[in-house]
Amino acid sequence: MVARVIPVDPFDLVIFGATGDLARRKILPGLYRRFYDGQMPESARIIGAARSNMDDAEFRTFVEDAVREFVSKRKCEAKALDAFLECLSYVPVDALGTGGWKELAAKVRPDVVQAFYFSVGPSLFGDLANRLHKHKIAGPDARIVVEKPFGHNLDTARDLNATLAKHFNEDQIYRIDHYLGKETVQNLMAVRFGNMLFEPLWNAQYVDHIQITVAETVGVDGRGAYYDKSGAMRDMVQNHLMQLLCLTAMEPPSKFDPDAVRDEKLKVIRALDPVHPDDIVRGQYKAGDDSASYLEDAENPDSLTESFIAMRVHIANWRWNGTDFYLRTGKKMKARMSEIVVRFKEPPHSIFESDTGQSANELSIRLQPNEGMDLRVTIKEPGPGGMRLIDVPLDMTFAEALGEEVADVPDAYERLIMDVIRGNQTLFMRGDEVEAAWAWTDPIIDSWTRREDRPHPYDPGSTGPEDALILLHRDGRRWRDLRK
Ligand code: NAP
Repeated sequence: MVARVIPVDPFDLVIFGATGDLARRKILPGLYRRFYDGQMPESARIIGAARSNMDDAEFRTFVEDAVREFVSKRKCEAKALDAFLECLSYVPVDALGTGGWKELAAKVRPDVVQAFYFSVGPSLFGDLANRLHKHKIAGPDARIVVEKPFGHNLDTARDLNATLAKHFNEDQIYRIDHYLGKETVQNLMAVRFGNMLFEPLWNAQYVDHIQITVAETVGVDGRGAYYDKSGAMRDMVQNHLMQLLCLTAMEPPSKFDPDAVRDEKLKVIRALDPVHPDDIVRGQYKAGDDSASYLEDAENPDSLTESFIAMRVHIANWRWNGTDFYLRTGKKMKARMSEIVVRFKEPPHSIFESDTGQSANELSIRLQPNEGMDLRVTIKEPGPGGMRLIDVPLDMTFAEALGEEVADVPDAYERLIMDVIRGNQTLFMRGDEVEAAWAWTDPIIDSWTRREDRPHPYDPGSTGPEDALILLHRDGRRWRDLRK
């Protein structure tokens, strides 16, 4: 099956922070893939902007190297790459200074879609917005794309929303959470709302509990000092896991449109109960045979910041009262794996003998690796020997189900950038959503800060601290295994 590609309108995309890690690894290679697949028109322009002094030719070499490193060889054809590089130029600009802004203003065309990607540190978001306005670069329909973190707490998020709102309307602001750009996350909505099968069961009457895991094998890798001011709760739960929770738990929106979807997500966040300290386990990874501990990586021997968190949360509404949601995320874990697991209740009465092996259905939605879904159902074990039951997966790995072309699905960033150009905000966070997420997160963080709560040490390559296992054991449950 060949994926349909609909070209977007001509655009000018200015990438502030074009020489940075995110631009090099994700944004620029992603744009090339969209170009190669025919979605980005040749008349589109990508303008790199950062303080480094470079000319267009040097920037093109930088981008070519990035494309060759991060795009599959099959797509790195000389002709396509040359044509893509033709779309690129560069302007040295300082977000905090005056240099470069006039040159940038002269480059951005008024008669195409204008998008400005803020791929710089969050302290510069406000300065960029102010200068785009001051130098009259952004037209009335221009879009800005704002990277995470969006604030450090509710107050800073509110300040940032207010700063951006001085110059841009809400429908011009695209707060990016790349988890929302993943194929499976969108498929979660398709499965829930495009089928009759699941929705009637999608509530506390039939769902025993839900697990959301985002596990990484890497540590804080050179970002220790930065990460130590944040921790797993701010870096992962407040945004990525919260978004996954919302899409799993929200009511059906009346239509698949940005405000209808985001209204429903907001209701989930507002319905979250405060979390009791006994329902939270925080951890810090220990040193391994040849790897440093979190405290060494963070260069802070007294750090109380968590590199792992597991928590039980409740959504206080009719649909979910009685279903536990368990969230877990951490660094230096056994496997890199992100998934949502919906564990259904066992049938109310078994007609089979108790030792036949029947168990509850489980739907798992894998974000990485191998994006796909897997529904475990109970069937009769084939062959003679009476009625013995086994659990088998009804596996839907996209690569297998839909063929190679569709398996080669766009990366989250490239999909989201195309949504920006199309003017579709469905997969971006609205200002009130971000504030509501911080309003729930802040008291939790405050409570452990007040108690000077010390995270539990855990072995690198493990599933986190022992207490995280106990968090589920005490409810008679266990985490789904972390698989590679
Ligand atoms: P980075 O590697 O440190 O790059 C920062 C970029 O900003 C560089 O291009 C830098 O270039 C530019 N810059 C710094 N100060 C500037 C100034 N005063 N004026 C203009 N440009 C300036 O950071 P990054 O990892 O790419 O991250 C960028 C943003 O994405 C951050 O908000 C980060 O939190 C977010 N993010 C990154 C990742 C990731 O995987 N890297 C993932 C999620 C979110 P010059 O030094 O040449 O100015």
